[in-house]
Amino acid sequence: MQCPVCSAQRPDDERYCVRCGAALRPTNSANTCTVVITFDLDGPSGMINRHPEVEQLPSAYSFGEYGPTVGAPHVLAMLERQAIPASFYVPGWVAERHPRLVEGMAAAGHEVAHHGYLHEPPSTLDREAEGAVLDQGIAILSGIVGQPPTGYRSPSWELSEHSIGLLEERGFTYDSSLMGSDAPHMASDALVEIPIHWSLDDYPYFVFGPSDGRRLMASPDDVFATWHAAFEEFHARGAVFTLTMHPYIIGRPGRLAMLERLIEAIRSFEAVRFTRASDLAVETLARARR
Ligand SMILES: [Zn+2]
Ligand SMILES: [Zn+2]
Repeated sequence: MQCPVCSAQRPDDERYCVRCGAALRPTNSANTCTVVITFDLDGPSGMINRHPEVEQLPSAYSFGEYGPTVGAPHVLAMLERQAIPASFYVPGWVAERHPRLVEGMAAAGHEVAHHGYLHEPPSTLDREAEGAVLDQGIAILSGIVGQPPTGYRSPSWELSEHSIGLLEERGFTYDSSLMGSDAPHMASDALVEIPIHWSLDDYPYFVFGPSDGRRLMASPDDVFATWHAAFEEFHARGAVFTLTMHPYIIGRPGRLAMLERLIEAIRSFEAVRFTRASDLAVETLARARR
């Protein structure tokens, strides 16, 4: 079968073109789903990046700091109960303040990946500054985990025109910041993309911020229903279901229990597997080169 978008020749049972991510129309293929559970360990880094004064404001700081100090340990315990590997995207600034937490994530078999230094969206940086932030994060994570990260997720999902090239130069296997497909594909000749979307992110549902006009919080039951319905369709499409969450948001009581319930519900479907984004990226690269 030939991909109608990029013209690459693809196997007849492939649901999405591994070169460009376009939906294909396979002749026969069963429902399957790969599930990637991911967490961005932002802590207060994003708030401090936007408003440096937050570093001196105990209330605002505590809102984010709950993530690495309380949310993450509970997230890790839940993952251990469920025996599921996950991917954690960790800003260097957070890793410097919580090295034992990050070390423990890697020791438990989870992926520790790059998420900027102080949560800088690449679209706000020039090429040189963006490269320097990448190098700084690589050095910090390597120093804690013992090996460089192979994956990158841009803070706020705002890549710049330089990002793909800068990641390739540094030997990254994949990025996870784009919304153009339901399945992994190549972002360039050498870099895999593991796509994400706001609808599968805890932030838009749960963050309450009266000072910036966010005055409603979703009920965990509503989010369960939304994500479960999305999962059913990902499963029917043979796609990859990637959830993006934040320990300071999903790690709150009532929400983490909802996530665990969702994981148990997902397990009851046929042909489902949970994998780290880094492993999926290696697989995707091999498929693209077949
Ligand atoms: Zn294609
Ligand atoms: Zn983030």
